[in-house]
Amino acid sequence: MAKKRETPQQRWAKKNRDKLAAACRRWRKRHPERQKAATYRWRRKNLAKWNAYQRSWRRRNPKLVQATTRRRWRKIKSDPQRHAQHLAAARSWAAKHPEALKRKARRYRRENSERVRAYHLRWMKRWYRTHLLEARRRSRLRRKKNLERWRRYDRWLYRTKLKTDPKWVAKRRARGRLWAKRNPLKQRHRVAVYRARRMGARGSHTLEQWMSVVRLHSWRCFYCNKKLNRKTLTKDHRNPLSKGGSDFARNLVPACKACNSGKAGRRRYRRRRE
Ligand SMILES: [Zn+2]
Repeated sequence: MAKKRETPQQRWAKKNRDKLAAACRRWRKRHPERQKAATYRWRRKNLAKWNAYQRSWRRRNPKLVQATTRRRWRKIKSDPQRHAQHLAAARSWAAKHPEALKRKARRYRRENSERVRAYHLRWMKRWYRTHLLEARRRSRLRRKKNLERWRRYDRWLYRTKLKTDPKWVAKRRARGRLWAKRNPLKQRHRVAVYRARRMGARGSHTLEQWMSVVRLHSWRCFYCNKKLNRKTLTKDHRNPLSKGGSDFARNLVPACKACNSGKAGRRRYRRRRE
């Protein structure tokens, strides 16, 4: 393509750039309407270029874009009718462009991973609290599917976190204390089992067996016949563990605190019924 010859005007413009620019500014100031119309005309003609420029500007000024978007949304949200309109439009757009929506969501997740994780966690916790039984059933199923792997994971968790990390240790202790407070009978049973094992006692019994023994004595002290309750109930080994008594249920009787500590390590104990 042959190069076009410059017109005299073009030559002048090249030489006097500043003057030309000043003249243009003056013209624009004098004819704002025409200037506007010319701009729009140019944009309509060069739509692709204009869009590309806008895109690049947005990329360069993300803060400004965000502020503008927020301002706009606040305005829209304050008008319920307009807000509903916008939501409907967004929904219809999403229905028409599922792929684009997925892409957008993926990008959002990638760029706000912390926030997304926090949201997910919050949501899970709420769901877990409201669907306790279902959640337990599901987790049991999950474990069952890959039992060995889960056990490996448990062991790893115990070694690296529960046992050694002070934060986790404190957390576990706090949870244990809470559980003990909520399940006093079970907690006492746990302690008793631990002590019996340390004394090297033969045999063992479950909490249910012990409770049935207590029921058999109708919640009364075996020695003084005093009525007992959950707080005053203590477990007495008739043949004491220290004298080689077993931890089987048949060696157990309910006793009040006074009788239990009065009997101490003796095999036989009698107390006058009050
Ligand atoms: Zn008693």
